Order: sequence, then structure tokens, then C-alpha cells
Amino acid sequence: SLPILLHLIFYRKAASQPLSTFVLLGPSGSGKTAFLSLVESASLLKSKTPSTTTHTSQTSTSTTVTLPPSVPVFSNRYRSVNDPSLPDAKRNAVKYILRDTPGHGKLRSAQLTQLQAELSSKNKKEASSIRGILFFVDAASLAEGAENLRDYAGYLYDILLVLQKVILTKGKSSAKAGAIIRILVAANKQDLFTALPPGSVKQKLESEIDRIRQTRQKGLLDASAGPEHDEDEDEVLGGDGAGGAFTFQGLEDDIGVKVDVIGGFAKVENEKDDAGATGIRKWEEWIGSCL
Ligand code: GDP
Repeated sequence: SLPILLHLIFYRKAASQPLSTFVLLGPSGSGKTAFLSLVESASLLKSKTPSTTTHTSQTSTSTTVTLPPSVPVFSNRYRSVNDPSLPDAKRNAVKYILRDTPGHGKLRSAQLTQLQAELSSKNKKEASSIRGILFFVDAASLAEGAENLRDYAGYLYDILLVLQKVILTKGKSSAKAGAIIRILVAANKQDLFTALPPGSVKQKLESEIDRIRQTRQKGLLDASAGPEHDEDEDEVLGGDGAGGAFTFQGLEDDIGVKVDVIGGFAKVENEKDDAGATGIRKWEEWIGSCL
């Protein structure tokens, strides 16, 4: 009968699709490990698969986890299983993969090279499984000094530049259609009173990225003044906002990549709380909105 046929078609489609992957990035100490262990401990399912990339000597770990059943999932929004009035047990636990790369600043360029290779891969299966990047920020350290801000903004700049290159190569329409990944800037450690609120993290990152952009642009101009230099313009990040300065909104208008800055904390405040689910809830909702 038709319902059974439809069920089979959708079941097979779902079974053959790779799980969505979210990549954890950010300077060391920003809270990636803390976040991962919170998600893992609350997950109904977890399985680790370490994978060594062929390009570099680094090892990243992919952990399959589930979204708490109470977190809405975009692609399920019309289904009754996503109805928030239903008890948790009646709803499906949606699986996804978190990929973490242990290690520090030294590995940044290797991580970015790998990301670029994966995203621009012609092999569709490989390329399409990354749905988002979670860029972790220690929002308390941003209040401490200009150097931390420079470090965070420089790292984020490099990530955004990789995405821009991939998109300009593939064609902007692929990003507009949502085929390219989204970025969450997780303004972590909001439990500390010294932490900058997310709005302020966003504004500081934007103005620092603007400064970095000016510096690099100048560097490229100087370099191209010499002989045999033929620099691409896509070596500099776009994203001019209304006043000509860099904004995340400007970047979205330019290349279709959406950056959301959302506060939270990856710390278990009270061990009796259900694995401290409150502090990471908004980030899980963001993940759900990508799925
Ligand atoms: P990673 O290097 O990015 O993996 O960072 P970690 O997860 O190891 O966190 C670095 C340190 O910050 C650890 O001591 C964590 O306990 C602490 N930490 C992580 N998230 C939070 C948070 O939201 N609030 C507070 N107060 N501390 C945190």
C-alpha cells in the first residue's frame, strides 16, 4: 500500500544519508572539551570514532551524540514527533556528530587546510556532512586584554576566509541555498561575572576582524606592488556592513554564510542538575535549527 511504500522510501533515504557533522574549533581553553563532555553525558547514545586525516598528523575524534528530545529540529518542524507538548519519550532523539580536534594553536593551519579540502571536495558524500562550525570563545578572557581578542578574531577570520574561498569557487548560489555550513560563535563562560555578554563579544569580534582585514589588505597591496605577484582578491575577507566596516550581517549578505553569536556556559554548576544541561541549551537549539 502507499503508506508502506512511502515509509520505505523515506526510511531508506534517511538510512543512507550520512549524519550531520559539527566541527568544534577555537583556541585552547575556550571550553570545547567541557562542552563535548556535557553533551556526551546527556546523550542517549555515544560512540567515538577517532579518524586520522591523510593530510596531516593530527587526529580528530568524531563522537555520535543525540540532541535532547525536547530541542526542536528544523527539518522535523511539521511533524507531530516534534511537538513540544508531547512527553520526551514520544519524540525521536536526533543523532549528529561532534568532531573535536585535540591540540593547540600550532595545529590551526592544518585544521583549516583540512576543512577547506573537505568542503571543496568533489566527493559529495564527504563534503555535505559538515553542517556547522561551533567556534568557542572564552568570553571572560576577552575582557582581559587586547591580545586575547586579537587571537580569537584572527582564528575566526581565517575560518571565514576558508569558507569564502570555498563559496567563491563553488558559486554563491550554493551558499544561498543553504548548502554551505553555518557558524555558531559560542560566547562561553557566561557563568562568570567577568564574561562579556554575547552582544559585546559580537561587536568586539567584528571590529577586530575589520582591523585584521585592513592590515591584510594593505599587506597584499604592498606585496602585489612587487614583480611576479598576482594576488587574488579573494585573499581578503568581504562582508562590508552599512558603513563599509566588517559585520557578520555584511558577510551573510555577501557570501550567504550566517554567523550567530550566542552566550552560554559549558560548566556543570550543580552536579545534581541533569548534567548541567541549562548552560548549553541555546547552543543545542542552534544545532537543532541546522538539522
Ligand atoms: P578546550 O581547550 O577548548 O577544550 O577547553 P576546556 O574545555 O578544557 O576548558 C578550559 C577550562 O575552562 C577548563 O578548566 C574548564 O573547566 C573551564 N571551563 C570551560 N567552560 C567553562 C564555563 O562555561 N565556565 C567556566 N567558569 N569555566 C569553564
